[in-house]
Amino acid sequence: MTAQRAAELFRETFGEEPEGVWSAPGRVNLIGEHTDYNGGLCLPIALPHRTYAALRRRDDGRLRMVSAQGDGLVETSLDEVGPGSPEGWAAYVAGVPWALARAGHEVGGFDVAVDGGVPLGAGLSSSAALECAVAAAVSDTGGLGLLDSTRGRAALAAACVEAENTVAQAPTGGMDQSAALLASAGHALLLDCRDHSTEQVPFDLDAHGLALLVVDTRAEHALVDGQYAERRDSCERAARELGVSTLREIPLEGLDEALSSLSGDLLRRRARHVVTEIARVEAAREALRADDFERLGELFLESHASMRDDFEISVPELDTAVTAATGAGALGARMTGGGFGGSAIALVRREDADAARAAVEKAFADRGFTAPECFVVSASDPAGRDL
Ligand code: ADP
Ligand code: MG
Repeated sequence: MTAQRAAELFRETFGEEPEGVWSAPGRVNLIGEHTDYNGGLCLPIALPHRTYAALRRRDDGRLRMVSAQGDGLVETSLDEVGPGSPEGWAAYVAGVPWALARAGHEVGGFDVAVDGGVPLGAGLSSSAALECAVAAAVSDTGGLGLLDSTRGRAALAAACVEAENTVAQAPTGGMDQSAALLASAGHALLLDCRDHSTEQVPFDLDAHGLALLVVDTRAEHALVDGQYAERRDSCERAARELGVSTLREIPLEGLDEALSSLSGDLLRRRARHVVTEIARVEAAREALRADDFERLGELFLESHASMRDDFEISVPELDTAVTAATGAGALGARMTGGGFGGSAIALVRREDADAARAAVEKAFADRGFTAPECFVVSASDPAGRDL
């Protein structure tokens, strides 16, 4: 298994035993897209795909890092870490002890060997899995005890966000790190991005004869950075025009009135996505509590339409995955993640999973798209110690 592979890579690279192996999962968001920076709600699950970190503490502040998915050993020291340094994948690793130290924790250097099982750049959050596996290892080997409580795990998640935003210099809202550290098997994690509270919502599809199919479209699209900034900016402008701090303050019942006082059609469509999407997350929570999976499927489809038509973040590959899965009997499907590529999810009856996968693969082939990767996932365990 991969935990052993990480330990083996550690032995080969550093010539001694790691103190242990820790891992953290990737995530997929069930519903609630582009809601985080609007103070809204989202509902991720932890994936069975995990990234493993075999680690040994050092007392001299050195950081030596190797990854089975990287290209050789990267070396630096804790006092050389900062915005943009080191570059590349090692930023996601070195940023973690740096951020923990800034938050007041006593941390030293380490040797670490990483082996990742989360597809990179597929919108399934390999970056947070990497950070959180390292964070778990640093907490345990340094005696910080942060894995032992929800509060401690939230503090680790915050350090990982800081590492990604500041050292790796990638914008991230915090959903990924919270999912990797705070989700639990058989549950989705309801995250309130306004007050940072969390709630476990039952999500045991197996028990209901259902499955969640993930379609990694492997689509690559340019201009994503500018698009993300435009969406954020539009939401902030809409909030300003409405005199609220974030669009979370606009209740669904007040939507029509709010829309009529916005200055243009673009802002109206952006705001309508956010307000209705937050309401759909609440509806999804109620559907899951009532075991109403037909309703959850409808919400997936409504969410996808809203992202395609109002927020304009879908691409032909994502629309094709949703249409093909639904045509093959899925209860619902939607793109997930930031958009412009990445993955889609489909809620299917277990006996329909193979047909849905085949339908998606055929639709992609018919359109001349790169073949997608399809896999069935269940809500899995958060970050923790493996060996
Ligand atoms: P996502 O998080 O959706 O997979 P990101 O662009 O946020 O996509 O993060 C991907 C980056 O994270 C990779 O380019 C790489 O720098 C880093 N990364 C993730 N997993 C690993 C790994 N196992 N080994 C080395 N780098 C990794
Ligand atoms: Mg990421």
